[in-house]
Amino acid sequence: MAKKKQHPDPGAGNLWGIDLGGTKIEGVVLRSAQDPEVLFRDRVPTEADQGYEHILEQIHKLVEMMKAALGTVPTMIGFATPGTVDPRRGTMKNCNTVVMNGKPMQADIARVLGVPVRLANDANCFALAETRWGIVKQEYPDARIVFGVIIGTGVGGGVVIDGRSIAGLQGIGGEWGHNFLDESGGPCYCGKSGCVERVISGPMLQQYYFKETGNNKPLKDIVALAESKVDPTAQKTMIRLVHFFGKAMSVIINILDPDVIVIGGGVGNIALLYDRGRDAVKQNVFNDRLDTPIVRPMLGDSAGVFGAAFLVDDAV
Ligand SMILES: [Zn+2]
Repeated sequence: MAKKKQHPDPGAGNLWGIDLGGTKIEGVVLRSAQDPEVLFRDRVPTEADQGYEHILEQIHKLVEMMKAALGTVPTMIGFATPGTVDPRRGTMKNCNTVVMNGKPMQADIARVLGVPVRLANDANCFALAETRWGIVKQEYPDARIVFGVIIGTGVGGGVVIDGRSIAGLQGIGGEWGHNFLDESGGPCYCGKSGCVERVISGPMLQQYYFKETGNNKPLKDIVALAESKVDPTAQKTMIRLVHFFGKAMSVIINILDPDVIVIGGGVGNIALLYDRGRDAVKQNVFNDRLDTPIVRPMLGDSAGVFGAAFLVDDAV
């Protein structure tokens, strides 16, 4: 039996990532950026109702579990967060886990863990993971500009250029969900009105259907009813989605002209987006054709935590 060669520095090159969710905090350790085998993966509850300090304690607990399992310590840890870090103030903003807003999380986590950390919005982590390991790496390895978007309960986006996540001057790079789309969307929690998120997110599609019919149905039922052509209002909801998807997505292409667009989230699962939705984008883009691949992600729910781990490599 061949003897396993001992690595001189066990753990060197490992990527440690944590996805800070509203209900769970998930950690992963990948062998390396080139060989991202999962060496560790586990989670602890966020228990956000117990306050900000408790969240920091839960993060600490998870990292101790990771250290014990690996027998090594990290040199840096990447974090996917629900909101974004304000680069000037160093505080969190736009988090739906509201106790995090206004808190200097990057500094606090680094202090509690005694290790440098890098934070990025979860949509940026999604885009980074799909680029470095997911569908872009598999199918479009030469892509230089990638736009990743999550269309689900909310709408978030992230830009990756040459394999690196772009935060932007104010930390809002890629925040396409709060571009103006249509007045019919009405007031948004962000203080603006008619945001992309207010028109094409899952809850807004359900709300549109509810307003038209008085029936509150889950999105997947509305999609199924539209597909079986038995419910004109469900069909109308989908036609409206396609219309506004085309308008909203064309803005991204006119500005970035990305090599590939990856769409995650519950709304991103709707098959219609990839044929009629694509046609609508083509009609709205400033070009006489549309070469841009618009594709589904590969990593599913894992993209956030894997993207967090890739932030470490991104920072090197
Ligand atoms: Zn908004």
